[in-house]
Amino acid sequence: GAPINAASIDALSQHFPLCMRNLHMNLRKNSHLKHFGRLQYTLFLKGIGLTLEDCLIFWRQAFKLITDDTFNKEYRYNVRHAYGDVGGDATRRGRGYSPFSCQKILTEHPPGSGESHGCPYRHFSGDNLTTLLQTTGINDRDVLKGVKEDVEKKRYHIACNRVFDFTHAAEIKKAKDEGSWSAGDNETLVHPNTYFKKSFMLAN
Ligand code: SF4
Repeated sequence: GAPINAASIDALSQHFPLCMRNLHMNLRKNSHLKHFGRLQYTLFLKGIGLTLEDCLIFWRQAFKLITDDTFNKEYRYNVRHAYGDVGGDATRRGRGYSPFSCQKILTEHPPGSGESHGCPYRHFSGDNLTTLLQTTGINDRDVLKGVKEDVEKKRYHIACNRVFDFTHAAEIKKAKDEGSWSAGDNETLVHPNTYFKKSFMLAN
């Protein structure tokens, strides 16, 4: 399959769920993310298989407006900490923190102004959510309407899965035709890393 390294994150982001695409786009736009955005995104990247070394390269290159010195002083430690390379108690050492589930992202630390973490289906206004989906290439009226209804019923996962099914329709059909689609593949995605994994596998 495609390599997973610091240089391939832009290309891989087509497989990311909306929460992580939003973080990625904001990082590229502002060359910065605030604390919880960095944490949510770092743990996700760790979960897709990005090594600590590549994750540090990724962040260092992404934060274009700061010096190496500032990066090393203010940001390097937290990335290493997330990977379990430094700090933490004995149980976390060498392992670090687990990537956040949708449940955690949906319920903890709602984003404030200027923050890009969280779940867009949950934390964006209806108009902003539609605009974001359109930015990622989703212009289908039925899908946008379906998402709106899901969100109104607070069925955020369902909205996210609706978008997954729509954006992967051809690949899902192919997998079904080839018999490589199992019953478990119909399960609702409830973790950003599962979303990535399924999308990545369908394409590779
Ligand atoms: Fe991310 Fe989960 Fe929200 Fe989808 S439902 S955008 S994977 S937090």
